[in-house]
Amino acid sequence: METILKTPELIDDRAKKFLNYNKDSFDTSHEDLIQTKTIKYKYYEYCSYCSCLALPIQAGLRNLGENYNTTGKTCICKGAMDEVDLIKNLADLDDELKSFTNDMKLKKYELKNKHIENTSSVESILLNIIKEDIQKSANIEDIVEILKDIGLNNDNT
Ligand SMILES: [Zn+2]
Repeated sequence: METILKTPELIDDRAKKFLNYNKDSFDTSHEDLIQTKTIKYKYYEYCSYCSCLALPIQAGLRNLGENYNTTGKTCICKGAMDEVDLIKNLADLDDELKSFTNDMKLKKYELKNKHIENTSSVESILLNIIKEDIQKSANIEDIVEILKDIGLNNDNT
């Protein structure tokens, strides 16, 4: 739907895509329209940047919809367009942050997995330790003590 513009002198370059050829009416269902800051006063909503009457957004009319409800309000001034840019830039940064976080999680997962693949089995680690202890032993009594420690000698039972 089209709303007649009362303040065409305030049109920001970035808002021109929301206007008709003569730049005197506004496409309320344009897909890029998003809510910008307004204040309510006596049943009306005004732009928080230029104080003009805010323009309606009718998202329900997009893509051949038939819902005429006003789903938000915005304006065609520089302040409102700056807010739209800010919202988009913040959303882009959020997307980048999410993608970066996912990449880092994957890297951590891969690093941990690689490390686990490199570990020896518990059995082979123990065997190496015991082997070294036995090789260092000076006499048979020491070896018997080592075997007792690991429960392999049951002479005393
Ligand atoms: Zn405004």
